[in-house]
Amino acid sequence: MTKIETGLVLEIKDLNKSFGALKATDGVSLTLNSGEIHALIGPNGAGKSTLIKQICGGLASDSGSVVFCGQDMAGLDVAERAQLGLGRTFQISSVILEFSALRNVMLAVQANEGTSYRFFKSVRKDQILVGRAMSILRQVELDGRENVSAAELSHGERRQLEIALALALEPKAFLLDEPMAGLGPDGSKRLIAFLDELRHEAPILLIEHDMDAVFALADRISVLVYGRIVASGSVEEVRNDPHVREAYLGETA
Ligand code: ADP
Ligand code: MG
Repeated sequence: MTKIETGLVLEIKDLNKSFGALKATDGVSLTLNSGEIHALIGPNGAGKSTLIKQICGGLASDSGSVVFCGQDMAGLDVAERAQLGLGRTFQISSVILEFSALRNVMLAVQANEGTSYRFFKSVRKDQILVGRAMSILRQVELDGRENVSAAELSHGERRQLEIALALALEPKAFLLDEPMAGLGPDGSKRLIAFLDELRHEAPILLIEHDMDAVFALADRISVLVYGRIVASGSVEEVRNDPHVREAYLGETA
């Protein structure tokens, strides 16, 4: 029996990372199962982004392992992990502002499918790319806006476009580092509704400061403080954990 059948998509085991004397990731273990949103919360500097970089391969770990869909990621770089479906998403730099929404998504689809179109004539190839890109734009509710340049999209729409670029890569897990950042109330509300559906596409490891979003979305929450997971459980369990309230929410129990 494979791990995928049991629902285990990503397994982080005893991961460590130091920057000089600073232990940024200190023995972190966590799992991500199919269909779930696992939120990772913690104060600034807790090591959340460092952990995401270790998982996606952007930062080498001192020790520990990342097992994705049953495969040990040791020795694989960012591009190789992304190709397998484990990629950090919401890299704003990947949106080309001068290009239309459609063209941005077409480029992502083409990048993902690599050379698989090489036997088609270019006109046919464009039709296939447009078709696939439009279906992704419909999925993120940007159809009707496909010819608008990314620069002219609203902030919320640009976030939807970033999700479209992520979807084009057909990930088997989403690693989202603060997707709500900079969104107003309406944008946040739309993104929450969208992420709620997105978990069925692939499970989400969600780093987020917006606690309303975390409490609305998370199946499980892990709390990171000084590189260590100090609590992990359901929304209810973590909310009521006295250590969390003290160390993270800044309350006395
Ligand atoms: P978070 O995302 O939870 O706010 P980070 O992972 O960005 O935290 O940072 C964790 C700690 O590691 C911080 O103290 C930060 O200053 C430090 N840090 C992060 N990246 C580096 C680096 N490349 N070199 C040295 N220190 C770093
Ligand atoms: Mg961070």
